[in-house]
Amino acid sequence: MANKFNKVVLSINAHPDDADLTAGGTAIQFARLGHRVLFVSLTNGDAGHYNNGGGALAKIRRAEAEEAGKRLGVTYKVLDNHDGELMPDLQVRLQIIRLIREWNASVVIGPRPYDYHPDHRNAAILLQDAAYMVMVPNVAPDTPPLKKNPVFLYVYDRFRKPYPFQPDITVDISGVLKQKYYAVIAHKSQFFEWLPWIDGVEDKVPENEEERLEWVAATYQTPIDSLERQSLIKWYGENKAEQITYAEAFEICEYGKQPSNDEIRKLFPMLPERK
Ligand SMILES: [Zn+2]
Repeated sequence: MANKFNKVVLSINAHPDDADLTAGGTAIQFARLGHRVLFVSLTNGDAGHYNNGGGALAKIRRAEAEEAGKRLGVTYKVLDNHDGELMPDLQVRLQIIRLIREWNASVVIGPRPYDYHPDHRNAAILLQDAAYMVMVPNVAPDTPPLKKNPVFLYVYDRFRKPYPFQPDITVDISGVLKQKYYAVIAHKSQFFEWLPWIDGVEDKVPENEEERLEWVAATYQTPIDSLERQSLIKWYGENKAEQITYAEAFEICEYGKQPSNDEIRKLFPMLPERK
């Protein structure tokens, strides 16, 4: 299936489970179509627990990410920066520039800089700071620069200030929802321990695996809103868009390549061809 037209998609986030939630269903479809997908966690997740931490937790989270990657069909890379302490500094920026170049990414996906978690905001700034610089030969000169700026995309978040998320590209994930959450629940330490603890719903965690998957999907998969529905109509046509029950949406960052609609259809081969 692999050929020279294959694309490389990088989803770069703060924590080892962020990419799964925001772009897991889209990643499954890229991978099924023979494209390469790399999920990157900029931190090792060593703060995400209430009675575990440091190197021991980082080890658990690395193994969970690896399992999630297998379930999605993507490569999962966990960098060794501390969780809860991610800063938009030059060292991490250079790590990102090198990764984007080494993988020759066409698309780079990550958070907007308006999210509640400082690591998410800083991950967003790091991505913005890497866009354009990936083409500058004198920056990180040990790694050959890209000839073209990739398309940088933001993932959905619910925050409305300074401006709400705009769904420029919305992907139907109805057919892969179960596989997405099968991958998400590989992060056991998060979805059945840490997050229920910090959200005060530890007593709600179901016992069996099937119920657990459904519980996590119901908790974390946001319903399609009216702007996303309009975007689905644009990309899939009215008839198909009506039948779509779950989706992942992306906003185009102004600092990367600005793709035309035709280029977006080529970059996202799971979108139907224009009629
Ligand atoms: Zn996170």
